[in-house]
Amino acid sequence: MAIHKTEGIILNTQNFRQTSLIINFYTRDFGKLSGLLKGAREELGKFGSNLDLFSLNEIVFYKKNQSKLHLVSQCDLKKDFRGIKKDLEKVKKAFSIVGLLTSLTVEEDKNEEIFNLALSCLEQLENGSRLDRILIIFKIKFLDYCGFKPHLDSCVSCNNRIISQARLSFKFGGLLCEDCLNKDIKSRNIFRGTVASILYIEKNNFDSVLRLGINHEIMRELNQVLDAFLEFHLDKKLPESSEIMIGT
Ligand SMILES: [Zn+2]
Repeated sequence: MAIHKTEGIILNTQNFRQTSLIINFYTRDFGKLSGLLKGAREELGKFGSNLDLFSLNEIVFYKKNQSKLHLVSQCDLKKDFRGIKKDLEKVKKAFSIVGLLTSLTVEEDKNEEIFNLALSCLEQLENGSRLDRILIIFKIKFLDYCGFKPHLDSCVSCNNRIISQARLSFKFGGLLCEDCLNKDIKSRNIFRGTVASILYIEKNNFDSVLRLGINHEIMRELNQVLDAFLEFHLDKKLPESSEIMIGT
């Protein structure tokens, strides 16, 4: 067994036997990772972390070759995001982020862009004010980094430039031009402003997209479209953040 050290955000925890915990982390160097913390419930303070959800920790673990559950020997708190825990709206958004990391990422598939994105969103949630757009930015960039980026530059079917009103097809994963509309009767209308916002957020860095002005109508449609895209890829309804919180 090789020993490794990395940073990880706690996605969820579950009791294991009488005294231990199994924790799912999203780590910088290994992607989503399951760790067994022996004695964590028996000997409080054994680990230098409160082991709270969405906290950032430095972990040392023994990586097993035959199993996806690895033995964590050290877990030291780096950031507990206390500022998020004081505000229910912030907590709900943080739960949505860890919920999507849990549901849509593959075990032990390193993706440092996703790790940095999640960390930036949690830091911004803790310190910032533009709460309404943090989750939108997370979803747009997360879809991109997961390889599920919607095709919005041209028609997803014939690749022609979109000139007039296009419709969004979840089945095809992007916009359909007027000639291709009949290929998906379930495609939906989408504002040009919504398409432009998604493209802008995909192409620009986190700090600059936070300042992007988005009106209420576009914001509402972005939420609908992004959730529908995520649900299409998850093949199930996204849980409300209140359901995730009750489930933990
Ligand atoms: Zn077309």
